[in-house]
Amino acid sequence: MSQFRPLDPLGIQRVVKQKGVLPQQADVLDPSLPIAEDELLIEVESLNIDSASFHQISEASGGDPARIEKQVLELVARRGKHHNPVTGSGGMLIGRVVQVGPAFPVAQKPVRVGDRIATLVSLTLTPLQLRKIRKVHPKIDRVDVEGHAILFASGIFARLPEDMPETVALAVLDVAGAPAQTRKLVQPGNTVVVIGGGGKSGLLCLYEAKKKPGVRTIAVDYSREAIERLNGLSFADQIIQADARNGVEVMEKIWNATKGAMADVVINVANIPETEMSCILAARPNGLVYFFSMATSFTRAALGAEGVGADVDLRIGNGYTEGHADLALQILRESPELRRIFTESYS
Ligand code: NAP
Repeated sequence: MSQFRPLDPLGIQRVVKQKGVLPQQADVLDPSLPIAEDELLIEVESLNIDSASFHQISEASGGDPARIEKQVLELVARRGKHHNPVTGSGGMLIGRVVQVGPAFPVAQKPVRVGDRIATLVSLTLTPLQLRKIRKVHPKIDRVDVEGHAILFASGIFARLPEDMPETVALAVLDVAGAPAQTRKLVQPGNTVVVIGGGGKSGLLCLYEAKKKPGVRTIAVDYSREAIERLNGLSFADQIIQADARNGVEVMEKIWNATKGAMADVVINVANIPETEMSCILAARPNGLVYFFSMATSFTRAALGAEGVGADVDLRIGNGYTEGHADLALQILRESPELRRIFTESYS
């Protein structure tokens, strides 16, 4: 008998419940060994839990690290993956490659045993088995663990760079899709509003948007800490303090800031629900709203736009676009301001 399971690039044989669906849609995955011929086995060091998911787990645990730990362990034991059923989101992990299946596509995705990598596919579809939790870091949504994970042949990952602390690299890689999509969506001369602009992805999006000639960036955030983080940054032209759950407040403030022209592009990177309307109302007619936030409700966005007669282009925030990891890491190398903020916040 082969020491490997058969080829399975999408991880379908890992699905326990409900049979026939893909791993991301599944309730339960089987993270057990051996790996398939085309899988990677990773000894996991840390989970970088998606902000919306960590926020929810933390709130449900009253912010108590011991209860957060218990919830994460129970969740992973129950589902065979870190897939938060409330937010529907997961996060990503870092670890060391301990086995490369003989049919893993190393020509397209070079990797060797011993490499330290960050997975760039969501934890919501990554088979995961935890032996224990070593430490919870509530400020950076990170949980240090012992356990193993499996990456399918279709999965993507980045080798951890050596020129920055890994916690910093991980924080950036987690949201790498946002600045890469910003690069695609923003045109020269646009007014770009970033809702939740003081957060991780918000700062990267503001920076990337500002690289295009003639772009004006407006950051919207709520807490004093976020506003302080934004103050004085060269790539945030204007900073607005507003509650993104209050569509009218945001609309009025953007109206005043743009003299009624509103935004060409609105990027939603807030980590809380019910921020769809502030984005829709901040966009000009025929403008574009990019919902990167995992707390976005398709129903609220679509029906909300219809309800206020807003003819805007609503885009779902695909977390992947080609070259996104390299672009996001490059931003940190280019911008001393962002490097300082990310190093202070995440190392
Ligand atoms: P983050 O660093 O926590 O940033 C979120 C920002 O939203 C923070 O500055 C936060 O301020 C702000 N915010 C919270 N409540 C607000 C309110 N009422 N009004 C205005 N701003 C508010 O999160 P992140 O890591 O950048 O992630 C942002 C979102 O992207 C999350 O929803 C995450 O799930 C999602 N995401 C999506 C993908 C994808 O593939 N589409 C991938 C990764 C992450 P405070 O810090 O003061 O709370």
